[in-house]
Amino acid sequence: MDDCIFCKIIKGEIPCSKVYEDDNVLAFLDIAPNNKGHSLVLPKKHYRNILDTPDDILQELIKAIKKVSNAVKEGVDAEGVNVIINNEPAAGQIVFHLHAHIIPRFENDGFKHWPGGKYEEGEMDETREKIKKYINKQ
Ligand code: 5GP
Ligand code: ZN
Repeated sequence: MDDCIFCKIIKGEIPCSKVYEDDNVLAFLDIAPNNKGHSLVLPKKHYRNILDTPDDILQELIKAIKKVSNAVKEGVDAEGVNVIINNEPAAGQIVFHLHAHIIPRFENDGFKHWPGGKYEEGEMDETREKIKKYINKQ
């Protein structure tokens, strides 16, 4: 993908602060960290996001995510990590090359989780059925 900033980083055309690399995956520090050590883990092959990525690529990715998560947690002495993948603009995706955020977390670092909502009577069953219809259509 010629105009993809992460493909350019993978090709070495744009520099990055690399924390991990293997044949299929690259990980580097996010340029605008939520907390210091915030890293991005991505497949070297270009896919838009998790919705279009083949399972074998995701298997490699999740192994690297675990490796980098442990290293980030130890490396910056964090108390936890969030692993987040934003998929599509409505979910906050800005760079359209699949990547997982590894965000080191500390008690009282001030980040809040999104608020929980609620279902009306019957709505939970209805919603479950809508989703189940598509589970095997992939
Ligand atoms: P998204 O919202 O797509 O999940 O996140 C994209 C992330 O990529 C953002 O957190 C942003 O700071 C990071 N980012 C964008 N451009 C660059 C870059 O050129 N270098 C690095 N290291 N991170 C980038
Ligand atoms: Zn790309």
